[in-house]
Amino acid sequence: MKPFEYIRASTPEAAAKRAGQGACIIAGGTNLLDLMKLEVMTPAALTDINRLDLKTIDETSGGGLRIGALVTNSDLAADAHVRRDWPVLAKALLAGASGQLRNKATTGGNLLQRTRCYYFTDTAMPCNKRDPGSGCGAMEGHNRIHAILGGSEHCIATHPSDMAVAMMALEAQVEIMGAGGAKRDVELAEFYRLPGDTPHIETILEQGDLITAVTLPKPIASRQIYRKVRDRASYAFALVSVAAIVRVEEGRIAHAALAFGGLAPKPWRDIAVEEALVGQKPTEALFARSADILLDGAQGHGSNDFKIPLARRTLMAVLVEATKGTSQ
Ligand code: SF4
Repeated sequence: MKPFEYIRASTPEAAAKRAGQGACIIAGGTNLLDLMKLEVMTPAALTDINRLDLKTIDETSGGGLRIGALVTNSDLAADAHVRRDWPVLAKALLAGASGQLRNKATTGGNLLQRTRCYYFTDTAMPCNKRDPGSGCGAMEGHNRIHAILGGSEHCIATHPSDMAVAMMALEAQVEIMGAGGAKRDVELAEFYRLPGDTPHIETILEQGDLITAVTLPKPIASRQIYRKVRDRASYAFALVSVAAIVRVEEGRIAHAALAFGGLAPKPWRDIAVEEALVGQKPTEALFARSADILLDGAQGHGSNDFKIPLARRTLMAVLVEATKGTSQ
């Protein structure tokens, strides 16, 4: 590991200012420290934000929830309010990593975790995300865990988060403090960038930006499901995951919000899929049509071709579960 300067920030403003000067923010460190040991990330300075007052979960005046950036994944999953009103989020959190990691990993850090692409973490291999312009080892290589949607000729990495998939379906907002101390809110749907020809730029964050919280809107009456398909029952990233928030009224789908993990460089949401469902009677034919819309343009790269039929089956199974017993 390369030497680095280490500073503890005492206020969010000080942390954002240090970040503006090029320091890397560290919170739980569950991903960053691994990448530093591998010399995939080699920051000259770290700013530790663990002592900041960003650890509370509070109701908003509009009936939503404000989750401090330093709330751990364990505490968020165990929160009674989350378990009651946003169960898809609790389920997604508990599907991620291990108990030990969830005790350290934070809400802000989870959003910013890096891809687990094998070539990204192997500094002997080409990778446009780690070393822009060097090529993409996965494109013609072993790409079993890679993207079938949203990739580019320069990068087909997937985003590894479960939490962010649920938050995408919940239409979360990210609260950000800039290097000058000003705050702004960004829809999570606008937060991540697709790789295009700049796969090393993953979010809309500017140098000096600090995530201070994530806000969930008021909950809606719905059936909420998080289904994760992976190689083993725990401690594995999603091959395909689906977060679904669905309400059926009088035999028709009145609300549908769906987000997908394991398929794309960011937590994936396709509004056209939801629009095709809303107002319709839940039938297998409808679910098949929604899968057609989701997977229109999906592209396998060899080892990950199986994800296309797997995503279809997973989405259809989730929609059956979400609407079961609701027809009239
Ligand atoms: Fe790098 Fe992306 Fe290619 Fe993986 S898929 S090797 S992260 S450029």
